[in-house]
Amino acid sequence: MAQERRVILSAIPNGGEASPRRLAISRPELPSYTRHIREFNLPAGVEEELDEHQRQAFSYLVRAARRWADIYALQESTDPRKPFWPQGITRREVREASDPEVRSPYTIVEYDQNGKLVARPMHDFYGKQIKELDIIRLLRKAADETGKGRNRDFKLQAYLRAKARSLETGDFKASERRWLEREDEPDLDIFFGFYDTYSDEFLSIKYAAEASVGVLDRQATDDSQWFKSALLGWWERETGRVAPRIKVRVDHTRIQAGQVAKYEFTGMSIPCQMDWREELGSKFIIYRPFFEDKFRHRRLPSLRNLIDKDKIDGITDGFARLAALRKIIAHEISHSLVPGENHQERLGQETTWVKELYCDLLALVGYRHVKGLSMRESEIAMAMFFSDGYLDYEDRRRRPEYHRSSTIITQYPIQHGSLSLLDGRFIWHETPAVFEDFSELLSETQDILIDGKSKDAQRLRERYFDPTIYRYLIFKGIYPQPEETSPDSTLVSSS
Ligand SMILES: [Zn+2]
Repeated sequence: MAQERRVILSAIPNGGEASPRRLAISRPELPSYTRHIREFNLPAGVEEELDEHQRQAFSYLVRAARRWADIYALQESTDPRKPFWPQGITRREVREASDPEVRSPYTIVEYDQNGKLVARPMHDFYGKQIKELDIIRLLRKAADETGKGRNRDFKLQAYLRAKARSLETGDFKASERRWLEREDEPDLDIFFGFYDTYSDEFLSIKYAAEASVGVLDRQATDDSQWFKSALLGWWERETGRVAPRIKVRVDHTRIQAGQVAKYEFTGMSIPCQMDWREELGSKFIIYRPFFEDKFRHRRLPSLRNLIDKDKIDGITDGFARLAALRKIIAHEISHSLVPGENHQERLGQETTWVKELYCDLLALVGYRHVKGLSMRESEIAMAMFFSDGYLDYEDRRRRPEYHRSSTIITQYPIQHGSLSLLDGRFIWHETPAVFEDFSELLSETQDILIDGKSKDAQRLRERYFDPTIYRYLIFKGIYPQPEETSPDSTLVSSS
C-alpha cells in the first residue's frame, strides 16, 4: 500500500506529463497519512433522519471527497511556484503573457519546448488521476441515489451531475449555478472542486483541490438565514442599495478534504470570483464541528477570562454561543458588501487587513441595528470582538490580517476613551459610546476602500495597530490611557 501511495504522488514529477507508469487506483481508500483529511462523527440522530438512498448517496460523496485529497496532494509543494507555475517564471512574464489562460485560476502553467508559456486546464492536467480515482463515477452514483426514495431531491441530482461533468469539461460555472440558484438548502451537500488561492504561494492566483461533505443543520440554518436577512435589510435601508444574494448553511460536517482541511477553516464562502458572486449569488457554509470546537475550547474561555466580570454577568454559554455564530455570519456577509474597486492596485499589501477590518466593523455596527435583537446581545458580540482579538494574536503568524484588524478594533475605542483595560480585562462604561467609535472607524475605513491609497491605510495602521496591548492582558496590567486631547482624536473628527 505504502509503495503504491508513493507511485501516485510521484506520478507527475515536474507537474508535467503524466508518467506512463500505472497509477495506484482501483483500491479502497488509504489511511490519511499524507493526505489532508479531517473526518468528524455526525451528532446522534442526524444520520437516522436520512432515508436509505440519501445514506447511500452520502457515502459516495464522502468517498469522492476523501479521494479528492489525493489531487490536492499533487498540488502541494515546498517550491512556492510548483506545481502551478514553471521553475524560474517571473511575475512580469505572467502579467504580460498574451494568453489570458495563463492567469486563469483553473490552469497549470508550463514552458513548452520552445520556451513558450502554455496553460493547461486543471481538470485536464489531473484528468488521468481523476479518472483512475473514479471520482466522476462516485459523483454520478451519488446523483442517481438522490433521485430515489421519499426524500428524493432532483435539484441536488442536477447539481451533482453538473459537478461530475465539470471535471470532464472544465465548465465549473455551470455546476456553481445549479448549486446557488436553489432557494432552499439540500439535506446533503457537497462542496467540491478547485477553489481559493492559499496554495499558490507565488502569486495567489491558482485554485487548489478541496471538498467538504455534510448534512444540513436545519434549525441553525433557519436561524442564520433569518439573521442574515435582517442584517441585509438594515444594510439596504442604510445604503439605499439592493443587497446581493447570499445563502447561509450551517453544516453537520462529516469530512473536509484537501486545502480546506489543511488550513482548518471554520467556514467557507463560495464562489471565490467576485463577478460570479454578483451574477450567481454566494453561499457561506459554517462547518459546525469546527465552530463548536473553537467556541468551547478557545472563544468561550477567552470571553470569560478577558472581559470584566460584571460585563458578562448572567451571560449563559448558550447566549454567548449564539452571539459567536451570528458574529461570524455578519462578518462573512460583509465580505460581499465591501465598497470600492481596484483595491489591490490602490492599497497593495494593505488590502487584506483593511478588508478584514471593514468586515469586522460592518458586522459589529450591523449587529447593533438588527431589529428584534436585544441590545445585550450586540454588546456581548462586541465583547467577543475584544476577547477573540487575543486568539487572533495567538494565531498572528498564520493569519496576520485578522490580527491587524482585531488589534485596531480594540485600540481605536481605547484611544478614544470608550474602552479600558484593567487588571487584564476589558471594561467599558457606556456601550453606545463604544459603538459610536466603531461607526467612526467604519466610515474612515470605508473612505480608504472607496478611494484611499496605500499610504492612507498605512497611516491608520500606524495610529492604531499596537499589539503591546496583549502583554497587558497576559500580565494583567493597566493599559495606559491616552491624554484626553491627543492629536489623533482631532485627526479623526476632521476626516
Ligand atoms: Zn474575513
